[in-house]
Amino acid sequence: MDQNRFERDDFDRVGAWIAQYFENPRRYRVFPQVRPGDVIGALPDEAPEYGESFERILADFERVVVPATTHWNHPRFFAYFATSAAPVAIAAEALAATLDVKAMLWRTSPAATELEEVTMRWLGRLLGVPPEWTGIVYDTASIAGFTALAASREALDPTIREDGMSGRALPALRIYITDETHSHVEKAALVLGVGRRNVVRVECDDEFRMRPDALSARIAADRDAGMLPMAIVATVGTTSTTSVDPVRKISKIARDNGIWLHVDAAYAGVAAIIPEFRSLLDGVELADSFVVNPHKWMFVPMDCSVLFVKNEAIVRRAFSLVPEYLTTPEADAVNYMDYGLQLGRRFRALKLWFVLRHFGAVGIRQRLRDHIALAQEFAHWVRAQPHWEILAPHPLSVVCFRYAPPGSGGAELEARNAAILEAVNATGEAFLSHTKINGRYALRLAIGNLRTTRSDVEFVWDLLKRQAGMLP
Ligand code: PLP
Repeated sequence: MDQNRFERDDFDRVGAWIAQYFENPRRYRVFPQVRPGDVIGALPDEAPEYGESFERILADFERVVVPATTHWNHPRFFAYFATSAAPVAIAAEALAATLDVKAMLWRTSPAATELEEVTMRWLGRLLGVPPEWTGIVYDTASIAGFTALAASREALDPTIREDGMSGRALPALRIYITDETHSHVEKAALVLGVGRRNVVRVECDDEFRMRPDALSARIAADRDAGMLPMAIVATVGTTSTTSVDPVRKISKIARDNGIWLHVDAAYAGVAAIIPEFRSLLDGVELADSFVVNPHKWMFVPMDCSVLFVKNEAIVRRAFSLVPEYLTTPEADAVNYMDYGLQLGRRFRALKLWFVLRHFGAVGIRQRLRDHIALAQEFAHWVRAQPHWEILAPHPLSVVCFRYAPPGSGGAELEARNAAILEAVNATGEAFLSHTKINGRYALRLAIGNLRTTRSDVEFVWDLLKRQAGMLP
């Protein structure tokens, strides 16, 4: 007999579980003590023939899943871009799943469509996006970036939509990035038929920012060679060091050459909500599109990425294709299926709406300011400590640094820092990641969790020093 009833008590138990998880997230190891294959080994080979009780399912969640999870919600998760799922947004996720709308047409959920329009306007205003721009929610910055690049291809050559890119003579389409640009742009080039070879890496200055003069030279050389510049991707807050490309200068080059400019502000864009950081998005109003990820640094759980576009009609031209069974009588309504590859869409705007209302702009600003201040303090400690060094400017909440005792260098220094990282992560007390900057191995500390305190940062600094053999 099936035992698969799900009672009100079961919802209460899940709610209680979530609440207790957040009461003391530090009790978990950040990075679990498991080896590849352990989770698979702990689970049966086949799905159950008969339904099981929720009690048993939840017990296995606690027994197998939780201890093998890397806890991104742990206050000492400092890797990649540290994030935080606000409980209010988790509640919104549960409610969105309850309604379970497939928000592709206005009529498949008027509320999901119009709440997305309103939330996009709210977010746009907070970030200083021109009011005539349109915001659209996607799952990730990779997909939002792909969408923007597909729109740039449509803007460049509308025949591609019907005729494709093969079986005819078409000059190479070119995309301009830097070594610091996130890898999703190259992936988009793969699937858009541009090809990796046509992704041009423009030289950076010594602070890892795209050099406008080098960009102009690359574009001119490509034009002379008969190629077609399609898009420039500038980054506000690069993945490794959070460097900020000179968007205003780049936008002038884009405009003079008729090239689409996409600005990837996936991590750092939200900081423009703080008046003293508004200048991060300086010049973005002259671009064609830009992306910001509330699921990175605005306390919205994965996934929620927002693409703002100057001219939504081009995105629609690139993607709209309406079969008979999806025609709809509401001529004046937004149908979000027209803005991307995906048909059915999750109600992602709900969690962003909950977060904006729960914290208010003041609350979000305060938390981002706190994160930036903690990162600056950490950088100060590193700088003041003999044999440690900062490896890149750190304008926001990420610091790249390394241990560099006298007389060490090259591969040996890299191995030493990699060993420090592994040793810190193996404690389960904190979790960091690394990058390479100008070929030099760098430890990387990112702050972005709602519950990270100064003592968490002090804790990890002590741990790093201890692992480097500097403390007893
Ligand atoms: N752009 C930048 C600058 C990033 O740092 C990242 C991820 O860290 C991405 C894009 C990709 O983000 P997503 O995981 O939302 O695709």
